[in-house]
Amino acid sequence: MKNVSDFFGCNVFDDRVMKANLSAKVYQSLRKTIDEGAKLDIGVANAVAAAMKDWAVEHGATHYTHWFQPLTGVTAEKHDSFISPSPDGGVIMEFSGKELIKGEPDASSFPSGGLRATFEARGYTAWDPTSYAFIKGNTLCIPTAFCSYGGEALDKKTPLLRSMEALNKQAIRILHLFGNDDVKCVRTSVGPEQEYFLITKEMYEQRRDLQFTGRTLFGARPPKGQEMDDHYFGVIKPRVAAYMEELNEELWKLGILAKTEHNEVAPAQHELAPIYTTTNIATDHNQLTMEMMQKVAAKHGLVCLLHEKPFAGVNGSGKHNNWSLTTDGGVNLLSPGETPYENAQFLLFLCAVIKAVDDYQDLLRLSVATAGNDHRLGANEAPPAVISIFLGEELHAVLEAIETGTPYAGTEKTQMKLGVDVLPKFNRDTTDRNRTSPFAFTGNKFEFRMLGSSNSIACANIMLNSAVAESLKIYADRLEKAENFEDVLHEMIRKTIKDHKHVIFNGNGYDDTWIKEAVEERGLLNYRTTPDCMPHLLDEKNVRMLTSHKVFSEAELKSRCEIMLENYCKAVLIEANTMIDMAKTEIVPAVSAYVLELANTAAAKKAVDDSISCGYETKLVRNLAKLEEQIAIKTDELEEAVMKLQDAEDVEAEAYRIRDAVLGKMGELRAACDEAEAMTAKKYWPFPTYGDLLFGVK
Ligand code: ADP
Ligand code: MG
Repeated sequence: MKNVSDFFGCNVFDDRVMKANLSAKVYQSLRKTIDEGAKLDIGVANAVAAAMKDWAVEHGATHYTHWFQPLTGVTAEKHDSFISPSPDGGVIMEFSGKELIKGEPDASSFPSGGLRATFEARGYTAWDPTSYAFIKGNTLCIPTAFCSYGGEALDKKTPLLRSMEALNKQAIRILHLFGNDDVKCVRTSVGPEQEYFLITKEMYEQRRDLQFTGRTLFGARPPKGQEMDDHYFGVIKPRVAAYMEELNEELWKLGILAKTEHNEVAPAQHELAPIYTTTNIATDHNQLTMEMMQKVAAKHGLVCLLHEKPFAGVNGSGKHNNWSLTTDGGVNLLSPGETPYENAQFLLFLCAVIKAVDDYQDLLRLSVATAGNDHRLGANEAPPAVISIFLGEELHAVLEAIETGTPYAGTEKTQMKLGVDVLPKFNRDTTDRNRTSPFAFTGNKFEFRMLGSSNSIACANIMLNSAVAESLKIYADRLEKAENFEDVLHEMIRKTIKDHKHVIFNGNGYDDTWIKEAVEERGLLNYRTTPDCMPHLLDEKNVRMLTSHKVFSEAELKSRCEIMLENYCKAVLIEANTMIDMAKTEIVPAVSAYVLELANTAAAKKAVDDSISCGYETKLVRNLAKLEEQIAIKTDELEEAVMKLQDAEDVEAEAYRIRDAVLGKMGELRAACDEAEAMTAKKYWPFPTYGDLLFGVK
């Protein structure tokens, strides 16, 4: 049995390694940069670079890379070796502080949404010392931010760090108002629970839809799906267990706190959850986790599907973003306290989140919008596209009592008055039951459940941090000027509850009647698709809020909106083209061949004895011939819809056309093909079926 503590973090240049390999002076100076954002001296950078290189070479690394997260959604790296020629004809291994701090990848083919004309193609990467460097394969990876020469962010990490800073600034103002003068820093922590599917590599390679798009574009319902609910938390199959064991080991070596794993609701679906950590590190770790999930799967003859909806009619995969606010002293600001003052502070932070989620429903929705996630939100299993907050009955009742100034059943006092009453203790268990809410309070954290499994968690946290920073700023502006702090505080909390209670919903979020109520009675937003929500990134109120906290510039927002819509269009277009291709070159030929066999069989029977009825063959030939015809028509129609996209004047118009025309045609083509699949002999069907894929990993 291997001892995890012996190898945990062995591939990470973490605090232990820094302490052991840097002089006390350099170490302290670097810690100041990491903890307080102090500017880094080049002398210190040189010393850190040298120590990093020695450590990396000792661990078998030959190359280094600035590791970053461009707007493609995956991570990027360009490897440079440490070698430098020596006068005697050999090489020495070198790495300077300058190379550590700044890189200049030729970045012209990363999306920039018009921010970076190609003549100034060289964006630059800047070291993020708050996220530890690590070794992957033979390469030292240095987590970095990625910017254009004008300083505009071209990645997801830069705005994430800015949003953390914005929230820090406003939260500190509030804490100081409550007399917590010793708090220097407030950070958000995140624990993302990651869902995924595992299928066999052999079957994956037979399906071009999976290879090109990450999801199945065809597939008739299998006789058995997830209706028995026998997979959820079920016994893990040996092959999957071996995979999970190796995955954990690889993640632990990278210092990632992989903690729990279990089977999910759908067959072949699983989940991995890490222990929570600071948001930017959690973001880096989640990207690495997704990468390792795929790498380790390949070693086990498996493929890990991270798409939000790999199979129609079967649960999709999401990512639950557990989020909380913590001070440098380790106090969780979303935990109800012991004293009346702590409770008032807790309620104010709680209200800040409620107000933020309500005021910026659109930003939260669009932060998780992708072509893949559109299939999930609003379908039966995932949280709907409507954003609401679950608080649990008890906390909800507390808020109601405050709003109406009526006695709360849990208190003996007649009336709740903040700063006087201690909140009744509420039971964590009762707050954690609702699994259908997109945004649930779970005792000491919020769980944002709308993220898709392949999403970077950066986007959702950027919006969440910024929106909460805005609420806190509004509160702090008022409280700092208040003559009677307690009165203003009480009134502000009461007003927040009154103004925003329509976003609180403790019922079943999967229920259709809820969507109707949410939209028609409560006026909540229901943006079903990416084209519906993405343009709202540029709504005046959103631009104002995000630029005022310096999370984005207006130019960055415009570029992001364009890139996200472009990503959407490209994803659906690849799917449409893959469908056309598979229908023409695989499905129609298979159906034809089977029809021919049926016709030949009928003819052969007749040749033996004219009186034999060939009813079975005849009926099937007729039905399949009709379907073949239908498939041909639908393929043509889809092709035509795709062609027409060329006329769209801009990417927004193209996205609308895709939503209104292309997706519908894809659905029609699929329906005809799936019907044909159900009638065609298995040996003729050109690729593995849903039954094969979902139950193929033994
Ligand atoms: P549940 O299974 O009920 O959703 P868990 O306690 O198992 O809740 O936590 C799920 C995820 O939430 C884990 O990744 C965990 O590390 C994370 N988490 C727990 N507490 C916090 C917190 N205070 N802030 C952020 N994430 C947290
Ligand atoms: Mg959870």
